[in-house]
Amino acid sequence: MVRRGRDFDEDDVRVRANPRGSRPRSRLRPEHEDAADGMVIAVDRGRYTCLIDDDMREVIAMKARELGRKGVVVGDRVSLVGDLRGGPDALARIVRVHPREHVLRRTADDTDPVERVIVANADQLVIVTALADPEPRPRMIDRCLVAALDAGLNPLLCLTKADLADPTPLLSVYEALGVPAVVTRRGGELEQLHAALAGRISVLVGHSGVGKSTLVNALVPDADRAIGHVNDITGRGRHTSTSAVALRLPERGDSDRVSGGWVIDTPGVRSFGLAHVSPDHVVQAFPDLAAVIAECPRGCTHAADAPDCALDDRLDALSVDSPEHPAERAAFAARVDSVRRLLAALADRP
Ligand code: ZN
Repeated sequence: MVRRGRDFDEDDVRVRANPRGSRPRSRLRPEHEDAADGMVIAVDRGRYTCLIDDDMREVIAMKARELGRKGVVVGDRVSLVGDLRGGPDALARIVRVHPREHVLRRTADDTDPVERVIVANADQLVIVTALADPEPRPRMIDRCLVAALDAGLNPLLCLTKADLADPTPLLSVYEALGVPAVVTRRGGELEQLHAALAGRISVLVGHSGVGKSTLVNALVPDADRAIGHVNDITGRGRHTSTSAVALRLPERGDSDRVSGGWVIDTPGVRSFGLAHVSPDHVVQAFPDLAAVIAECPRGCTHAADAPDCALDDRLDALSVDSPEHPAERAAFAARVDSVRRLLAALADRP
């Protein structure tokens, strides 16, 4: 599975004065030359909690007027000026939002018909699913996988409660796609998960009861304190928090591996937006299949019932041309089936 380059969103166009990549200096006033860089770790009603790169100081900021309607979300890299002392009485200003590498959208719902960017610059989407109590929901997993692949994030399946049910059947469903997975059990070790998160910015998504909060608390021992602290500053009670919050993973002792990294918890996010996703974009996450669909008719959905889909031609060719390699055809067929199941998530969209 490959990482795609940066994805653009509607906000980028206005702020990227020079799309060839050099810093858009002309948009900075002279007094912003010494702005401090940082990362947005929480957003609440027009107040942005940011962590300054240099000394990891937490500051509260508002958007500078010159940014206009440009959205600022958790994970955004920003430049800050103003009162950078930190603490509840100091207010800084965000004067620049750096170009985003990746964006993840929250799905549209009844209260808000627009799919909105909720997290920027994450590089991994961790789909937390219980093996039992509650039962796994493969269609939900598929939706999350499609969102991750479309956004250019590496997906990671995290299957919890392996002490209640055997992970093998669910693992085999995603094996053909090459989606990496970690398995945890209640009260068990988290070494595998720690290793998968080290040095990365991971968004965790999962329904209530799957053990996501337990994982977050185990991974970031002061997660409650950190979230409570953010909400103290922004004046919002922690129990009402529904937006994303970035939590820094503690550095770990072993010097022989990359440590640190971030987990971004998404308490109020039920699903990720798919309305903008094209079937081609999903299939292109799989290089071997991407080469095949280049031969498809224009506008092909690549679904099982799509007329003249090149995936079917390839399956036919394999059965004719390489009868002596049934294993190769079986593997390709399993992969096509799996990707078509993912694509079915697009047909479900509201
Ligand atoms: Zn096709």
